Amino acid sequence: MATDRFVHMGTKSWWNGITKTLCGLRYQGGDRVLFPRLGGYTICPACKTVQQADKR
Ligand SMILES: [Zn+2]
Repeated sequence: MATDRFVHMGTKSWWNGITKTLCGLRYQGGDRVLFPRLGGYTICPACKTVQQADKR
């Protein structure tokens, strides 16, 4: 299963260009981090878990 099929949820720091995902990954540039609102993708299980835990 290709990890590219997963989308991570995260935020991009506009001051340094580093995107930090909910599951703890970091991307420089952040172009690989997508958001579930775009649809048609499987959300990264780790990100999903963190998001749901954060909603409590
Ligand atoms: Zn993730």
